[in-house]
Amino acid sequence: MSEALPQGAVIGILGGGQLGRMLSVAAARLGYRSHVYEPGAAPAGDVAHAVTQAGYDDAEALRRFAESVDVITYEFENVPAESLDLLESIRPIRPNRRALAVSQDRLTEKEFLHGLGLRTAPFANVETEADLPAALEAIGAPSILKTRRLGYDGKGQIRFSDATQRDWTGAASVLEGFVDFSGEISVIVARGADGAVAAYDPGLNVHEGGILRTTTVPSGAARAVETDAVLLAAKIVNALDYVGVMGVELFVTAGGLVVNEIAPRVHNSGHWTQAGCTVDQFEQHIRAVAGLPLGDGKRYADVVMENLIGADMDRVPELLAAPDAQLHLYGKAEVRAGRKMGHVNRVRR
Ligand code: AMP
Repeated sequence: MSEALPQGAVIGILGGGQLGRMLSVAAARLGYRSHVYEPGAAPAGDVAHAVTQAGYDDAEALRRFAESVDVITYEFENVPAESLDLLESIRPIRPNRRALAVSQDRLTEKEFLHGLGLRTAPFANVETEADLPAALEAIGAPSILKTRRLGYDGKGQIRFSDATQRDWTGAASVLEGFVDFSGEISVIVARGADGAVAAYDPGLNVHEGGILRTTTVPSGAARAVETDAVLLAAKIVNALDYVGVMGVELFVTAGGLVVNEIAPRVHNSGHWTQAGCTVDQFEQHIRAVAGLPLGDGKRYADVVMENLIGADMDRVPELLAAPDAQLHLYGKAEVRAGRKMGHVNRVRR
């Protein structure tokens, strides 16, 4: 697929959560249609041209889905490899398989980043529970045990405050040394099919209970640190021959930037671009996977993005009345503690 997709072409999106929903809206704005594939209830289905509700192991449904679209992208990176093999035999997948393989496994990801000369937290592979004592000996405490696969929003993680603790995640894990950081920033970077790269300004992230609470731009980090962050994000997407948007989460430390993790998709910490930029991360991703030129990544406003989690939905009437608030609600029927229900971008001019 080297030509840009024509008007009316269909973009297949694996995963029907809020990221898929906002990608679908961006696709529609550019004259495309979207087909969402999601095993469960799909907030993205409300705004998509078509929805397939089927499991990621349903070969027949995957085949029909792939045949009905022009290109396949994803908002969910844990699709099984065999399903991706099947999809890829029918239509191109963007970003490519290597990006998925690298980011699906925390160990592979760290090894890849080291190969590029980038820093990560000190880590040890903990393949089974029996490897834990040696790993704790090597890494020490405080440290964090994280499942290698399928963790998100702090799930699948155990914190160790002393090296004699023996809690287990239940699955192959990595033990990470605790990074003494002054702040967490992330870079949302895009790479087009032609190799052009556009990065947004880094944002400062604040987490609560392992879940992103706010992202603020400007980040407040020193200019040189922001430049380093953008350059290393560009290095990562180039090395992967990446096409699409990627989120790169970083710790700011006295010794420089440490990469926490990379996400091969649009990212929660990039939602501020909806209010701060002419072309937001969702449009940028659709442009990339559709083979269009990337848009302007320049930031035109200072923005604070706040996630609306669980009972934060009670604040919606007040937010609707606030003059500076751009509200995004995901249409999820059931409010649950810890569930991302929406977000608000507040512009600070
Ligand atoms: P993660 O799921 O890996 O993004 O981790 C969620 C959050 O836990 C991060 O954003 C940090 O606030 C914190 N965290 C994760 N890993 C480390 C680490 N090695 N050192 C210090 N804090 C960490």
